[in-house]
Amino acid sequence: MTHPRMGRNEELFARAQRCIPGGVNSPVRAFRSVGGTPRFIARAQGPYIWDADGRRYIDLVGSWGPMIVGHAHPAVLEAVNRAARDGLSFGAPTEAEVEFAERLLRMLPSIEQVRLVSSGTEATMSAIRLARGATGRAKLIKFEGCYHGHADALLVKAGSGALTFGNPSSAGVPPETTQHTIVLDYNDCEQLKDAFDRMGAHIACVIVEPIAGNMNLVRASEEFLQTMRQLCSRHGALLIFDEVMTGFRVARGGAQSLYAIVPDLTTLGKVIGGGMPLAAFGGRRDVMAQLAPLGPVYQAGTLSGNPVAVACGRATLELVEQPGFYETLAARTQSLVNGLVQEAKEHRQAFTADSVGSMFGLYSSLQVPRSFAQVMACDKERFNRFFHAMLERGVYLAPSAFEAGFVSIQHDEAVLAQVVQAAHEAFSEISR
Ligand SMILES: *Cc1c(COP(=O)(O)O)cnc(C)c1O
Repeated sequence: MTHPRMGRNEELFARAQRCIPGGVNSPVRAFRSVGGTPRFIARAQGPYIWDADGRRYIDLVGSWGPMIVGHAHPAVLEAVNRAARDGLSFGAPTEAEVEFAERLLRMLPSIEQVRLVSSGTEATMSAIRLARGATGRAKLIKFEGCYHGHADALLVKAGSGALTFGNPSSAGVPPETTQHTIVLDYNDCEQLKDAFDRMGAHIACVIVEPIAGNMNLVRASEEFLQTMRQLCSRHGALLIFDEVMTGFRVARGGAQSLYAIVPDLTTLGKVIGGGMPLAAFGGRRDVMAQLAPLGPVYQAGTLSGNPVAVACGRATLELVEQPGFYETLAARTQSLVNGLVQEAKEHRQAFTADSVGSMFGLYSSLQVPRSFAQVMACDKERFNRFFHAMLERGVYLAPSAFEAGFVSIQHDEAVLAQVVQAAHEAFSEISR
């Protein structure tokens, strides 16, 4: 028997924990970091999600990035329904995937050829195999705090000293699997130069989130990305921009358009699927030509280029291509951030915020972090109290002090004003 005062979320979570490890299908959903019971989502519309108890929340997670046009957008649903009526999967090429690839090439000029896959993890894993195959080298550089999905070689944390090889950050990853992964500090140009000085001839690629969104939001310095581009070119390594989160999110042309840097390969996901499992990797034609069936680098997928997912992605990208879309979103996100910072100041709470396009960071710290160490120095307990105070007031923030937030085009001024009002009350509550 369940407790009579138990809500549906609690009931479902108890049931879920019996049949699914931790009750969730992706760990951060479990609310372990903030404590409490995860909300089981029953439906979503525009800027809102409703939990299993019928409570409505303003959603600032947006499925961790994809929902840039808001939930259940009618044009997107129509496209998905239409595609589904024509069959769910063929395992053969389609006109729609060609049209979609052409659209990606047009929107991201650094991509000369692209291949569709089903998740960001697959995109980064494939891009790295391709970079290794194309260069004939084994080593790769990544940066602590950047997340590139859960492929073995990328589940690495920094070793004991700078420039040591990374240690696996998950059980089940043998150290031999990560022995070629070098983990450096984000925004540290000197370390990067040093690594290339010592090992330049063996480095296949550098993979980076050009604006980090998986250690909260951390902007790369211009110098950091420029240095990286120059070192890769000089040493014959490939530069991979992992824009799974930033692609079509921070700007129409992704982070690479904001920094005016041309990577050799780009990985995409999240927004390009509009909420369906769709991701991609692409870039230089000569490099992409190394992929099977043209070249020796194997890569494949039963559901790659799935017609329903492609229809969803296409409808989403058609909406974001409308004039003024990114300008409106960026201005609204900026005003949200200004409102939050203002409220924090008024309540003398050590919180600050930042945004790039429609991606924002809210930090329980006085300064906007520029490194992984600064992010880690944020006050997790203070964030957690704020998180729950906001949740009680119907605002759903990412359930972790170390995640970025996302605004959709359906979050209009009135909705964002409600978020700021909730923050006003939440800061008051946690100040007491
Ligand atoms: C989300 C994310 C991934 C992994 O994508 P999945 O679809 O979750 O596998 C990879 N890289 C970055 C930058 C991401 O934000």
